[in-house]
Amino acid sequence: MRPEYLYTNPKTLLNKGTGYLSGYTHSLNPYTGCSYGCSYCYVRQMPVNTFRNAEWGTWVDIKQEAAVIFQKELRKAKAKGPVTIFMSSSTDPYQPIEQKEMVTRSLLEVMVEYPPDFLFVQTRSPFVRRDIDLLLRLGDKVRVSMTVETDREDIRKHFTPSAPPIPARLQTLQLLKDAGIPTQATIAPVLPSSEEFAEKLHDVVSRVCIDDYFMGDGSGGKRTKRLGIDALYKEKGLEEWYRPSAYRLVYERLLKVFNEEQIYISQKGFEP
Ligand code: SF4
Repeated sequence: MRPEYLYTNPKTLLNKGTGYLSGYTHSLNPYTGCSYGCSYCYVRQMPVNTFRNAEWGTWVDIKQEAAVIFQKELRKAKAKGPVTIFMSSSTDPYQPIEQKEMVTRSLLEVMVEYPPDFLFVQTRSPFVRRDIDLLLRLGDKVRVSMTVETDREDIRKHFTPSAPPIPARLQTLQLLKDAGIPTQATIAPVLPSSEEFAEKLHDVVSRVCIDDYFMGDGSGGKRTKRLGIDALYKEKGLEEWYRPSAYRLVYERLLKVFNEEQIYISQKGFEP
């Protein structure tokens, strides 16, 4: 189903980095809403969605004149001190509508002109490759974090049917690495994966972050529980993966091919 798109005129783009993102001065969301509509997305329960009266994943607001507003805010923030930005915390900056609207690209153009001290780009979309030219101009002040929760396409389709295929994400990580852009693969949340997962990641990244519902949803897993995610595990007979200990299995597998220093756990993997 095509999401409902709405043009909005926000007054601000930059938000203060708080809670899980307290290591950042700001968070930045080019869109409100996300057409990937992942089953486990914690934004489903946030006021931005609950007040909406529509299913998460079926609506996206496109922020008009975003670059103009952002440029003013960024310059002002930079004048006050160091600026570190997390993009994005409650939407995917490279979801399909970005191909047409280019809001994210317009914000990156501003950041090339007025570089923040650090930019963390969080996405699960291979479309980030379009912006390699701009990302390169940010040098080592940027890191692209690609969500790769599993290497199993059947699992990806079960939990996030509208999200991009895993092989395309791995190829994109390879492409970014070859271009010289700092990257990481982010296994968040930990979904059931194969024994070969660690090796597949080792081929394309030198840094991995691993996080799960229990460490990373900001409520010890309670938020996720309210989403009823356990039913999706049950349907596949994979309940053992919906436990606080499941991440250990993936961690042990990663340790066979990565050094300990290359593996970041939970919040540490998202810090500037
Ligand atoms: S891509 Fe991220 S923001 Fe979008 S639905 Fe999935 S988890 Fe939520």
